Amino acid sequence: MCNSYCRAQPPQPPPEGTDALTVQPRVVIVGAGIVGCALSDELTARGWTDVTVLEQGPLFATGGSSSHAPGLVFQTNSSRTMTEFASYTVRKYSALTLDGQWCFQQLGGLEVATTPERLAELTRKHGLAASWGVPGALLDPGQCVALHPLLDRDRILGGFHVPTDGLAKAVRAGEAQARRAIGRGARFMAHHTVTGIGSANGRVTAVVTDQGSFPADVVVSCAGFWGPRIGRMAGLAVPLVPLAHQYARTSPVPALAGCNTGELEASKPILRHQDRDLYYREHGDRIGIGSYAHRPMPVDLGEVPAPGGPVMPSMLPFTKEDFEQPWADSQALLPALARARVDEGFNGIFSFTPDGFPLLGEAPELRGFWVAEAVWVTHSAGVARAMAQWLVEGTPRTDVHECDLNRFEPGQLAPAYVHRRGCQNFVEVYDIIHPLQPMEDPRPLRVSPFHARQRDLGAFFLEASGWERPHWYEANQALPEVAGIPGRGAWASRYWSPIAGAEALATRERVAMYDMTALKRLEVTGPGAQAFLQYLTTNQLDKPVGSVTYTLLLDETGGVRSDLTVARLGPGRGCGERWQLGANGNLDLDWLIRRLPSDGSVQVRDTTAGTCCIGLWGPLARDLVQPLTDADFSHQGFGYFRAKQAYLGNVPVTAMRLSYVGELGWELYTTADNGQKLWDTLWEAGQSLGIVAAGRSAFNSLRLEKGYRSWGTDLTAEHNPYEAGLGFAVRMDKGDFLGRDALLGTTEETVARRLVCLLLDDPRAVVMGKEPVYADGAPAGYVTSAAYGYSIGASIAYAWLPRAAADPGRRVEVEYFGERLPATVTQEPLFDPKMARIRR
Ligand SMILES: Cc1cc2nc3c(=O)[nH]c(=O)nc-3n(C[C@H](O)[C@H](O)[C@H](O)COP(=O)(O)OP(=O)(O)OC[C@H]3O[C@@H](n4cnc5c(N)ncnc54)[C@H](O)[C@@H]3O)c2cc1C
Repeated sequence: MCNSYCRAQPPQPPPEGTDALTVQPRVVIVGAGIVGCALSDELTARGWTDVTVLEQGPLFATGGSSSHAPGLVFQTNSSRTMTEFASYTVRKYSALTLDGQWCFQQLGGLEVATTPERLAELTRKHGLAASWGVPGALLDPGQCVALHPLLDRDRILGGFHVPTDGLAKAVRAGEAQARRAIGRGARFMAHHTVTGIGSANGRVTAVVTDQGSFPADVVVSCAGFWGPRIGRMAGLAVPLVPLAHQYARTSPVPALAGCNTGELEASKPILRHQDRDLYYREHGDRIGIGSYAHRPMPVDLGEVPAPGGPVMPSMLPFTKEDFEQPWADSQALLPALARARVDEGFNGIFSFTPDGFPLLGEAPELRGFWVAEAVWVTHSAGVARAMAQWLVEGTPRTDVHECDLNRFEPGQLAPAYVHRRGCQNFVEVYDIIHPLQPMEDPRPLRVSPFHARQRDLGAFFLEASGWERPHWYEANQALPEVAGIPGRGAWASRYWSPIAGAEALATRERVAMYDMTALKRLEVTGPGAQAFLQYLTTNQLDKPVGSVTYTLLLDETGGVRSDLTVARLGPGRGCGERWQLGANGNLDLDWLIRRLPSDGSVQVRDTTAGTCCIGLWGPLARDLVQPLTDADFSHQGFGYFRAKQAYLGNVPVTAMRLSYVGELGWELYTTADNGQKLWDTLWEAGQSLGIVAAGRSAFNSLRLEKGYRSWGTDLTAEHNPYEAGLGFAVRMDKGDFLGRDALLGTTEETVARRLVCLLLDDPRAVVMGKEPVYADGAPAGYVTSAAYGYSIGASIAYAWLPRAAADPGRRVEVEYFGERLPATVTQEPLFDPKMARIRR
């Protein structure tokens, strides 16, 4: 057998509009599944034509997951990014053919409800589709049956239909893309098993196979569920679990006789019955059934058959006993199956990650080694395009922070954690998941030094980056404010308590303690620290020691990669310059480390785990803190956006006069060992002032009353500062900084969209985020964050809207579970616009 897929055509020049590269990086892609093939196409289309794809199996039915994927593509996802990936896959594969044969059949996708809860969930999903620009419709049972006549009309309550969903032929689409890549100069090598990754000085240099070595400047592992094995060769922990998932085909179904002949394969919409964890497609006159209704079946890579044998490595024997209930449920939903039987089946392997998102990006410690794994056929083209943009242009044009390989905290890479969460994601794949719902196991993982005290106060914990984070405290049930807090709808009431409202009001009226430990803290030191931070951020940091600055990290395109508070703390013992950064997560650390100067003049350290923070906020915050310290905490002695080292009682703290809730107060940082003492000191001192411990739920409401954005939710790298209302943090006149060139000529006035504040007419109608916003009756944008504003007695939603619909006073509608809620674009901030409460 030929070992390589020989060049069918002479190399083609790069397409128009792509700069021909003088020096071609040598790219090696591991794996010729759908992801590797799609990436080869996207890279070569951008002019990177020195691409070698190494595949352990044959081409193009390699034996990996893509070889047997039934190829259902449902686009709508709660993640905007994942939906965008899927929509690009639909567009791209719809236009692809292989030797005249189709690669994508736009049959439509139908998800049916057999329970009222699912029907409500599909209504919500319809809203998500509208938010992300996917046309879809809610159907009654009769309309569902009209589209899919095999359905039992009496069993279903309704459905959600997306006409552009459909079936992808994964192997065919893979080969069609590979051929285009080959036409531009790529080569595909079958039966080449990668056995090692060569490196020197922290960079990849080669990929080693059983047939020899391939020099490489860039390696992209697209090895699917084999990813962890390739990762290990590069010293990288790839957090995915290979899990088996059942797929079966029936015998011919009499009701389908003559329906789908020849090339057609299928004519009815692809179908999901998520109340029973099942999905369906036609295979001519048979039905294919996929089931997630069984126990998780993690697969040890050592037990996967070798490629090239009699069975495909990714196809394990069918365990019939796991299919008994799914078969009964299928016959109930599709009564025509009563006249058929299960003819064949297999337990197919593919990848699950701890949070259900793919793994995309460059290894933290081996430059040039990239990963694109845990990707469904559904998202394959979109992922490949983003990866190619990232590699060739430096930045993906779609926000990929949810999928970034480097998003995990060290504890989240523990094999036991990856295994448990991966399995749980399999179990929950079709479940109705509330946006705030955490996984229950393994927990607790990370706890702040205040944890014991918080438990004593009846904290209701949710999880953030592995941290247990209080959302409210049951101990506050006795607060008089609780009785006056308005109720809300059933969905918005989950993971919520009126106690949160009382905590918010207590913050505005008295003083409250917030555990801010979960927020990432970084220390930047060294003689080059100031120049380094000045170049990477947008605001002016050249200020005296003791200054704190709110600033942005931009990418080369001017997109906001993160927002930071940067405190200049002055010389520490043994180090010159010392800066403390309040960051958003691990990706910030990764961003900074990748850009460190090579001369060793700057060091970046993650100090989060060894430190802790209490936000002490409220009009009585100064009355509480001043008697505890000799340091001057007066307005004159300790100005807004200033930092100071001090002792509060026996506790050494770094105090920063900042407030994310819009009240007088300080973020008080100390080392973990002093944390409980800090809590106790503040708690005792606050008793006479009516102090409360307050949680994240109150915090979120207070921040939205003040218009403070949350990166990752309200804005991402897809937005520039002016669109996001953060132009005040950009100092174009401070000198050069990363992203500055891309912002030239951009102002608040020139942007095409804006993040705006909406007030809902009905104050009791609290929404959750991601709902579509309609202007003049048509979908125009979507909600990012939302909360009830307890101090203003109104329901707040921040939303992206086109410039033309973004002026204050503009009437719009927010769709929530199918209901259009009237709202008005409102001047922000809603609370204390003159900042009188903070600056005093
Ligand atoms: C039963 C089943 C049903 C599914 N249904 C759907 C569906 O309906 N819709 C959908 O979107 N997704 C579906 N999926 C998921 C989908 O199939 C996968 O997520 C997708 O195919 C993964 O593509 P990939 O290219 O990343 O991986 P793969 O197709 O597995 O490709 C990885 C390649 O890497 C090669 N490789 C690995 N190690 C080496 C090495 N050391 N050296 C050289 N080559 C190596 C492998 O041989 C393989 O060809 C299903 C999966 C299963 C199992």
